[in-house]
Amino acid sequence: MSEVKTPIATGGCQCGAVRYEMYVAPQNSHVCHCRMCQRATGGVFAALAGAPKSGFAWTKGAPTFYASSNLAKRGFCAACGTPLSFAYDMPEARIYVTTGSLDDPNAAPIVMQYGVESRVSWVKFCEDVKSERTGESADAAAFFASMQVNQSS
Ligand SMILES: [Zn+2]
Ligand SMILES: [Zn+2]
Repeated sequence: MSEVKTPIATGGCQCGAVRYEMYVAPQNSHVCHCRMCQRATGGVFAALAGAPKSGFAWTKGAPTFYASSNLAKRGFCAACGTPLSFAYDMPEARIYVTTGSLDDPNAAPIVMQYGVESRVSWVKFCEDVKSERTGESADAAAFFASMQVNQSS
Protein backbone atom coordinates (compact mmCIF):
# COMPACT_ATOMS: atom_id res chain seq x y z
CA MET A 1 0.00 0.00 0.00
CA SER A 2 1.55 3.27 -1.03
CA GLU A 3 1.38 6.22 1.28
CA VAL A 4 -0.17 9.35 -0.20
CA LYS A 5 1.71 12.40 0.97
CA THR A 6 0.29 15.89 0.91
CA PRO A 7 2.81 18.53 -0.08
CA ILE A 8 3.14 21.51 2.26
CA ALA A 9 5.36 23.41 -0.15
CA THR A 10 6.19 22.95 -3.82
CA GLY A 11 8.68 24.44 -6.20
CA GLY A 12 10.81 24.01 -9.26
CA CYS A 13 13.16 25.55 -11.75
CA GLN A 14 12.59 28.36 -14.21
CA CYS A 15 11.84 26.14 -17.24
CA GLY A 16 9.66 23.65 -15.33
CA ALA A 17 11.73 20.55 -16.16
CA VAL A 18 12.48 19.90 -12.49
CA ARG A 19 9.83 20.04 -9.75
CA TYR A 20 9.88 19.09 -6.08
CA GLU A 21 7.57 18.74 -3.09
CA MET A 22 8.17 19.25 0.63
CA TYR A 23 5.94 17.32 3.03
CA VAL A 24 6.79 19.46 6.03
CA ALA A 25 6.78 23.22 6.48
CA PRO A 26 10.13 24.72 5.37
CA GLN A 27 12.69 24.56 8.21
CA ASN A 28 15.62 26.79 9.17
CA SER A 29 15.05 29.17 6.27
CA HIS A 30 18.22 31.18 5.97
CA VAL A 31 20.53 33.13 3.79
CA CYS A 32 24.18 32.17 3.46
CA HIS A 33 26.62 34.87 2.47
CA CYS A 34 29.64 32.55 2.08
CA ARG A 35 31.75 32.72 -1.06
CA MET A 36 30.68 29.24 -2.12
CA CYS A 37 26.99 30.15 -1.97
CA GLN A 38 27.73 33.37 -3.85
CA ARG A 39 29.47 31.52 -6.68
CA ALA A 40 26.98 28.64 -6.72
CA THR A 41 23.97 30.90 -7.12
CA GLY A 42 25.61 33.74 -9.00
CA GLY A 43 23.86 35.96 -6.48
CA VAL A 44 25.31 37.89 -3.57
CA PHE A 45 23.96 35.26 -1.14
CA ALA A 46 22.02 31.99 -1.24
CA ALA A 47 18.52 31.91 0.26
CA LEU A 48 17.71 28.36 1.36
CA ALA A 49 14.76 26.57 2.99
CA GLY A 50 15.18 23.11 4.52
CA ALA A 51 13.36 19.83 4.99
CA PRO A 52 14.39 16.43 6.31
CA LYS A 53 15.45 14.27 3.37
CA SER A 54 12.55 11.94 4.28
CA GLY A 55 10.15 14.87 3.95
CA PHE A 56 11.20 15.89 0.48
CA ALA A 57 10.94 14.45 -3.04
CA TRP A 58 11.88 15.41 -6.57
CA THR A 59 8.56 14.91 -8.41
CA LYS A 60 9.36 15.87 -12.00
CA GLY A 61 12.67 15.43 -13.77
CA ALA A 62 15.81 15.42 -11.68
CA PRO A 63 18.48 17.97 -10.96
CA THR A 64 22.09 17.61 -11.96
CA PHE A 65 24.42 17.73 -8.96
CA TYR A 66 27.72 19.48 -8.47
CA ALA A 67 29.86 18.42 -5.52
CA SER A 68 30.93 21.87 -4.36
CA SER A 69 33.04 20.15 -1.71
CA ASN A 70 33.69 16.61 -0.49
CA LEU A 71 30.87 17.10 2.02
CA ALA A 72 27.97 18.53 0.02
CA LYS A 73 26.21 18.60 -3.31
CA ARG A 74 24.32 21.38 -5.03
CA GLY A 75 21.49 20.56 -7.44
CA PHE A 76 20.57 22.62 -10.48
CA CYS A 77 18.45 22.24 -13.61
CA ALA A 78 20.64 21.13 -16.48
CA ALA A 79 18.18 22.64 -18.97
CA CYS A 80 17.80 26.17 -17.58
CA GLY A 81 20.52 26.45 -14.96
CA THR A 82 18.34 27.35 -11.98
CA PRO A 83 20.15 26.57 -8.69
CA LEU A 84 17.73 24.30 -6.82
CA SER A 85 19.24 22.61 -3.80
CA PHE A 86 22.04 22.26 -1.30
CA ALA A 87 22.60 19.28 0.98
CA TYR A 88 25.39 17.83 3.03
CA ASP A 89 25.91 14.16 2.18
CA MET A 90 25.06 12.73 5.62
CA PRO A 91 21.62 11.04 5.52
CA GLU A 92 20.50 12.90 8.66
CA ALA A 93 21.29 16.31 7.16
CA ARG A 94 18.46 18.38 5.76
CA ILE A 95 18.08 19.07 2.09
CA TYR A 96 17.71 22.76 1.37
CA VAL A 97 15.97 24.22 -1.65
CA THR A 98 16.63 27.69 -2.95
CA THR A 99 13.95 29.91 -1.44
CA GLY A 100 13.38 31.66 -4.75
CA SER A 101 12.55 28.34 -6.46
CA LEU A 102 9.61 27.78 -4.08
CA ASP A 103 6.22 28.46 -5.65
CA ASP A 104 5.59 30.65 -2.59
CA PRO A 105 8.80 32.05 -1.15
CA ASN A 106 6.68 33.79 1.50
CA ALA A 107 6.22 30.36 3.09
CA ALA A 108 9.87 30.36 4.16
CA PRO A 109 10.65 33.54 6.12
CA ILE A 110 14.29 33.96 7.07
CA VAL A 111 15.31 32.92 10.60
CA MET A 112 19.11 32.85 10.32
CA GLN A 113 22.09 34.20 8.41
CA TYR A 114 25.28 32.20 7.87
CA GLY A 115 28.66 33.06 6.37
CA VAL A 116 28.46 36.69 7.41
CA GLU A 117 32.26 36.96 7.18
CA SER A 118 31.72 37.17 3.40
CA ARG A 119 28.63 39.38 3.38
CA VAL A 120 28.93 41.87 0.54
CA SER A 121 29.41 45.32 2.05
CA TRP A 122 26.37 46.88 0.43
CA VAL A 123 24.01 44.02 1.27
CA LYS A 124 21.88 45.60 3.98
CA PHE A 125 18.75 43.69 4.87
CA CYS A 126 17.36 41.59 7.68
CA GLU A 127 20.07 43.04 9.90
CA ASP A 128 18.04 42.14 12.96
CA VAL A 129 18.19 38.45 11.97
CA LYS A 130 20.56 36.27 14.01
CA SER A 131 23.84 35.60 12.22
CA GLU A 132 27.04 33.63 12.53
CA ARG A 133 30.35 33.22 10.77
CA THR A 134 31.28 29.99 8.96
CA GLY A 135 32.74 27.57 11.52
CA GLU A 136 31.93 29.89 14.42
CA SER A 137 30.86 27.14 16.84
CA ALA A 138 33.24 24.36 17.91
CA ASP A 139 30.99 21.74 16.28
CA ALA A 140 30.94 23.64 13.02
CA ALA A 141 34.70 24.21 13.09
CA ALA A 142 35.30 20.47 13.55
CA PHE A 143 32.92 19.70 10.69
CA PHE A 144 34.49 22.18 8.28
CA ALA A 145 38.01 21.01 9.19
CA SER A 146 37.53 17.97 6.95
CA MET A 147 36.08 19.94 4.05
CA GLN A 148 37.92 19.96 0.74
CA VAL A 149 36.49 22.70 -1.42
CA ASN A 150 36.06 22.22 -5.17
CA GLN A 151 35.75 25.92 -5.87
CA SER A 152 38.43 27.53 -8.00
CA SER A 153 38.77 30.61 -5.80
ZN1 LIG B 1 14.82 24.12 -15.70
ZN1 LIG C 1 27.17 29.20 2.08
